[in-house]
Amino acid sequence: MGRAPEQRATALIHHDYQPPEDFESPAVAVHKASTVFFRDTAQMRSQRWVDKSGYTYGLHGTPTTFTLEQRIATLEGATHVLLAPSGLAAVTTVDQAFLKSGDELLLPDNVYAPSLNFARHELARWGIAHKLYDPMDPASLAQAITPATRLVWLEAPGSVTLEFPDLRALVRTVRAARATGEGAPIVALDNTWGAGLAFNAFDLGDGLAVDLTVHALTKYPSGGGDLLMGSIATRDRALHDTLAMTHSRLGLGVGANDAEAVLRSLPTLPLRYAAQDAAARRVAQWCRQRPEVARVLHPSLPDSPGHAHWAALCDAAAGLLTLELDARFAPAQVDAVVDALRLFRIGWSWGGPVSLAVPYQATAIRRLPQPYRGTLLRLSIGLESVDDLIADLEQALQRLP
Ligand SMILES: *Cc1c(COP(=O)(O)O)cnc(C)c1O
Repeated sequence: MGRAPEQRATALIHHDYQPPEDFESPAVAVHKASTVFFRDTAQMRSQRWVDKSGYTYGLHGTPTTFTLEQRIATLEGATHVLLAPSGLAAVTTVDQAFLKSGDELLLPDNVYAPSLNFARHELARWGIAHKLYDPMDPASLAQAITPATRLVWLEAPGSVTLEFPDLRALVRTVRAARATGEGAPIVALDNTWGAGLAFNAFDLGDGLAVDLTVHALTKYPSGGGDLLMGSIATRDRALHDTLAMTHSRLGLGVGANDAEAVLRSLPTLPLRYAAQDAAARRVAQWCRQRPEVARVLHPSLPDSPGHAHWAALCDAAAGLLTLELDARFAPAQVDAVVDALRLFRIGWSWGGPVSLAVPYQATAIRRLPQPYRGTLLRLSIGLESVDDLIADLEQALQRLP
């Protein structure tokens, strides 16, 4: 018995069953939506997404994305957060929200390369100039600031060369160059390496703070190497509102399943970060003893650039290290080492369970006075046994003459 098939089609869509309320479990529900229903036209006209007091359209937030935004705000020490479909989309949203034709953008010389490419190939077309400063020399930043400077990016440390800048000195330099308020340069930090755990970008001490942070949630918060997402966090309501309008006009949003995957990984973030930090330090100590390695770049090592700045601000240090291989080895010989690795896989990104290795030519990373000589080999430490990772490196390095 029952309804005729054509009636069932409608009933399957307009169904009157409502599950009982008061369901709670450890997981945050996956709320998927483009369309969001309104109770009546009055609610449709009054509902507001900007302050997260209501839902209007999937692009502007669901309970799942609002929940993730709040948790990232807690992680970063911020009050307002936006989610973008990648870390790079978060960076370019910041650029587009605050820069207009005639403005200047300042980037550290060791900046995440796609951020520089956006300035070179997109912002330049819109009449927005950019300049590079040496992140290890605050005087170089001071010299680069002009009345047209509107946005200054910081990164700590450089994501391949891992030199740690004096963040307080850099922020102080921007604040001293031009008074805060309308038209003063905005200080943005790419906080992906620190992940909100190594230091608090919104309280650097001495009353200093950045204005906003970007975090590639793709890395440690996801923890899986299996999704792309970015966040923009701030404590400044006016900056957030500007960002939120640009973000919404650009049509940026994240999928509910990806947001849920990050929510599921966040409780283990501090444990994973600490484990990958400890493992990277053990690998770094081992690599220091190797004759093939001229220098190990890792902020915790005294001969790594910016060690003192790192030590003044942080205890933790993420899971990255870079080997500066002896200059006598040709890039092809280093490639052969990378190809010989078995547990370390070859691939971009970091923060997942699988250890990764990528060779770089130093000239592609730094343009200002070049402090590195040999080929650089960046290692991202995953969650494998450290002894196994060291044994893998040992058998691969043995291929060098
Ligand atoms: C990975 C990364 C990004 C970009 O994140 P995607 O999600 O890959 O676009 C930005 N900055 C840093 C420092 C990164 O490591």
